[in-house]
Amino acid sequence: MNKRSIRDADVNGKTVLVRVDFNVPMRSGVISDDSRIRGALPTLNFLKDAGAKIVVCSHFGRPKGQFIQEMRLTMVRERLSELLGTTVVNAYGPTGEEPAQIIGNLNSREFALLENLRFEPGEEQNDEQFSKHLASLADIYVNDAFGSAHRAHASTVGVAKHLPAFAGLLMERELEMLGSSLEGSTGATVAIVGGAKVADKIQILRHLAKKVDTILVGGGMVAAFYVAQGNTGGAAAITDEDVTAAKGLLESGGANVVLPADVITAPDFDENSPATVCESTDVPTDGFILDIGPRSSKEYARIISLVDTIIWNGPMGVFEWDEFTKGSTAIAKAVAANKKATSVIGGGSTAEIVGSMGLADQITHVSTGGGASLEFLEGKTLPGVAALDDRTD
Ligand code: AMP
Repeated sequence: MNKRSIRDADVNGKTVLVRVDFNVPMRSGVISDDSRIRGALPTLNFLKDAGAKIVVCSHFGRPKGQFIQEMRLTMVRERLSELLGTTVVNAYGPTGEEPAQIIGNLNSREFALLENLRFEPGEEQNDEQFSKHLASLADIYVNDAFGSAHRAHASTVGVAKHLPAFAGLLMERELEMLGSSLEGSTGATVAIVGGAKVADKIQILRHLAKKVDTILVGGGMVAAFYVAQGNTGGAAAITDEDVTAAKGLLESGGANVVLPADVITAPDFDENSPATVCESTDVPTDGFILDIGPRSSKEYARIISLVDTIIWNGPMGVFEWDEFTKGSTAIAKAVAANKKATSVIGGGSTAEIVGSMGLADQITHVSTGGGASLEFLEGKTLPGVAALDDRTD
């Protein structure tokens, strides 16, 4: 990683503003999954042990620049206190004079949490004044919110101009793992790319085609590749642009692009529509391809078992529907079973699949960023990463 990490910072006695991603899922006012809060604990405990005064800040939901009572971080602060085993002071704000007063009273190894950053319109506008306000609250800035690094906001970009800016431990691990999955391997590499649409995944396909040996294609975009090869199966569900994009990739001369030899189709895009296994050449023109077939799952698993690096982004089918989940679960098992490989999962619904199967700890790295990891794997520069200080050694 070419960015400065908190390991390089002298934080003893300093006030450190830490941007985290505490945008946790809530159900009926209760946090239903606290893994994002847990994800920030290594950085927060590191700063505590190093003697910092720690000011934590995050967005939550989409209040769109307005104060919304239900979107306050009260529940988050309570859970954070429990997990840290110490009080987290409410710093209020995020604007006004209160935060500075409260933070001014912090001692070393104490924590405060600012109120939801997106209550302030300047946050999403990357407003200079709000960036300066955030910077005025601390001596050092740390970004540990990889999941928000693709957004150029005041707390991810603007503030970094006004303070020494370091990557937190989670940010550092994300950049190292995602980066080395693309650049670090000397052995065979495979990328598995699925998801709903070609339009959403064409950039990642183009970038990965230059970086890996083999791409295994799944998801809704299979139809576009079939049509690009001269079949008609699933044609009704895709656009001409999808086919042109698929053709371009097949002709790009990069990675070996592998398509499923069989797929599971249904006459309607519906959970209860009857599922049929079809050969790639027998898919009805007006049918929907909703998963890869059993033979393809086996073949993909065989390829996965042979490689040294695996990158996976996007499910093989509509995994939310029982009849169309088998391809994705077969791939998850195959990725987990290859113990010699470095395996990296690019967040979002793919992370959900391995999480729900209890396989996350058998994967080398499951990214915490959905949109951010997608943009990283597309080869884009993430503004929240670019804003951090470069290493000088
Ligand atoms: P993404 O998060 O972009 O990787 O896309 C995940 C979504 O793609 C999931 O909600 C899946 O239901 C959807 N998806 C996967 N395969 C298909 C398919 N064959 N047709 C339509 N949607 C699909």
